[in-house]
Amino acid sequence: MSAQQERTFIALKPDAVQRNLVGEVIRRFEAKGFKLVGLKLVKPSVETAEEHYAEHKGKGFYKGLVDFITSGPVVAMVWQGKGVVASARKLIGATNPLTSEPGTIRGDLAVDVGRNVIHGSDSTDSAQREISLWFKEGEIADWTPVSNAWVYEN
Ligand code: UDP
Repeated sequence: MSAQQERTFIALKPDAVQRNLVGEVIRRFEAKGFKLVGLKLVKPSVETAEEHYAEHKGKGFYKGLVDFITSGPVVAMVWQGKGVVASARKLIGATNPLTSEPGTIRGDLAVDVGRNVIHGSDSTDSAQREISLWFKEGEIADWTPVSNAWVYEN
């Protein structure tokens, strides 16, 4: 797999949809130079939300988190590009928006940890797991952006 084929799972949480931040967040990923290869609006089932956040089961915020994620539509996306997993985490910012740096999505657009607008996979392994949880194979579209030669040196 070439470096440019790395993929990550990004979800815009129900607060992002309700606050009309979908376009703003997608704009930041597009402007960075990453490639959108999967996109859908879904109201996640409790099963999907619980599996997605399985590592947090038993923690105090787990039930509220699952209730929140299943409360409304989520924009589920797959983004592709060189170093996209780590870079997306930087674009997103720290988990608690009060400590996220200005310039990051959470730093600029959110206040409360339980309403922090966006999820991004924390490793390439998590990305693979989350992409296959949220997307079927035929729902991912590979394509070649005409801008590739202007985003990548080689
Ligand atoms: N969360 C919360 N309270 C906490 C910690 C986390 O509501 O004290 C929520 C928050 O929405 C966060 C999600 O649980 O985005 C998953 O937590 P994680 O530590 O994996 O943070 P992330 O990877 O989203 O930055």
